[in-house]
Amino acid sequence: MRFQSATHRPDLLSQLSERNFDLLVIGGGATGAGIALDAASRGMAVALVEKKDFAFGTSSRSTKLIHGGLRYLKQLEIKLVHEVGSERATVHRLAPHLVVSEPMLLPLVKGGTYGKWATAFGLWVYDLLAGVSGKDRRVMLGKSHTLEKEPLLREDILLGSGRYAEYRTDDARLTLENIKAAIQHGALVANYVEATGFHYGENQKITGVTAHDTLGGKSLDIRAKLVINAAGPWVDELRQKNQSMNQKRLFLTKGVHIVFPKERFPLRQSIYFDVPDGRMIFAIPRGKVTYVGTTDTEYKADKDRPLTYLDDVTYLIDASNRLFPSIKLRVEDVVSSWAGLRPLIFEEGKSASEISRKDEIFLSDTGLISIAGGKLTGYRKMAEKVVDVAAKHIQAHSNQRFTSCLTKKIPLGGLAFDRGAVSVDAYRDQLREELSAVGLEAYQAWYLVHLYGRQSDQILDYFRQGKDLSERGLILAELAYGLEEEMVHTLTDFFVRRTGRLYFDIESVRTYAEEVAAAMADHFGWSESRISFELQSLHQEMEDVSVFRPNPEAVSVM
Ligand code: FAD
Repeated sequence: MRFQSATHRPDLLSQLSERNFDLLVIGGGATGAGIALDAASRGMAVALVEKKDFAFGTSSRSTKLIHGGLRYLKQLEIKLVHEVGSERATVHRLAPHLVVSEPMLLPLVKGGTYGKWATAFGLWVYDLLAGVSGKDRRVMLGKSHTLEKEPLLREDILLGSGRYAEYRTDDARLTLENIKAAIQHGALVANYVEATGFHYGENQKITGVTAHDTLGGKSLDIRAKLVINAAGPWVDELRQKNQSMNQKRLFLTKGVHIVFPKERFPLRQSIYFDVPDGRMIFAIPRGKVTYVGTTDTEYKADKDRPLTYLDDVTYLIDASNRLFPSIKLRVEDVVSSWAGLRPLIFEEGKSASEISRKDEIFLSDTGLISIAGGKLTGYRKMAEKVVDVAAKHIQAHSNQRFTSCLTKKIPLGGLAFDRGAVSVDAYRDQLREELSAVGLEAYQAWYLVHLYGRQSDQILDYFRQGKDLSERGLILAELAYGLEEEMVHTLTDFFVRRTGRLYFDIESVRTYAEEVAAAMADHFGWSESRISFELQSLHQEMEDVSVFRPNPEAVSVM
């Protein structure tokens, strides 16, 4: 049975309630997905449930960078810089189409936080500690060379820049590729299944959960020797249900990114720059857009629907206009946005930006293992750490034996690219040729390859089989692939988490929403009322990301 197909959901749900698992993972973000893959590949019987769609939480709302740990250098966390740097190289090797080198410019400006020598030395130490090599090594540039790289920079205060390597990714796709690899290694994985309570056996130890199928409305029980709570910003809700809150708790902060069409903000080069309040933000060109972020403010409202408010937008626009004065950005220029919640671990007396991004594991007396904090960048290492704990526990109480962590060797996103980025580029050129032969722009090949890797071949098979060799045909082919291979159940699954179109090509969502809804209705046999519900939900999401209300919590100063 191919459980990655949306059609097989009824069988998937009955298997979930019939089998006995070694491990049940709650939460289908990057952390949970990484854990499921790690545990399944070691030989554990694994289940994972996600209450909404995979990557619905923070893992579709990050800055979408796989960092090298530069910020840890500032805090003198030397070991961490080394660890994060080598981890980035590993994730790039596993998915070179999805974790792609993105040279970053650090402008040096009059009155800025760092001078030329401090930056040059800092980036040099960073390269050394993080094991950065080849063309990723830092380069210091003078003023004119910096302006050649990015002519939009403010000339009168510019002194030069440091250029170093970041890696860009698509967080939701990275999560999904881990989910798919976990399924290939035997894990049973379901989106739209919410863990609502725990079952306890002897000595009040957890033996499983009660769950709710939020699409079909039924309840189910899932049995497991161990349960891992990887619910990101919702980790404490589950700890509360398990009555295992101790002195450690989460502290949520909201981070917003805003998106401009390329024509309105024609940035050539990614920039990481100072803001007057002492923070730093990114401006990153990507395909048809440029995005800017992020903010960092304490958050206490609805975790399921963090919104971008007008004050978030003006903060980011003011910062951008200060460094790129010629473009004169306005609120009306913002075409999309996203707001995510950082599940940080509370530290007394520290502000949002000062709190450490380290991950932590909490063990409860009932056996619940909760993992919180951390970064997308470290998801694989976090998974290794927590699965080591789980394996040790299960082995101590049974005669089962598991291998050690194998995920360093499991490529993500279908067939591997044996020569890394070089093979990715060659494959993209090949697709560009094929698509340009039917009149499609080069962007489409870039888009497909960097989201799907070699799985693009399967999408192109659907495309060729369809009679429509236009952008519309390509989008319907992408949908067919999503329905068969990626558990797409709703319109927003497709337009937000599988394809990122809501953020990076919102025009295509407007153009094709109705046709995609019609194709999904055909596939699932949806009623008229379900179709209008789906379209309404999508329109709500489109409004949420592009219409900016005043912040209801802002203190108005008269
Ligand atoms: P989530 O992605 O939130 O996943 C938790 C999941 O659990 C959710 O999908 C939720 O629906 C599900 N869930 C909750 N309760 C239940 C339940 N009862 N039953 C079933 N499922 C449940 N890191 C980087 O490395 N690089 C970056 O560039 C970067 N930028 C960031 C920018 C911002 C603005 C933010 C907010 C974070 C950023 N991070 C970045 C951090 C990174 O995004 C997070 O560390 C990571 O995505 C957290 O993943 P997670 O799986 O722990 O949480």
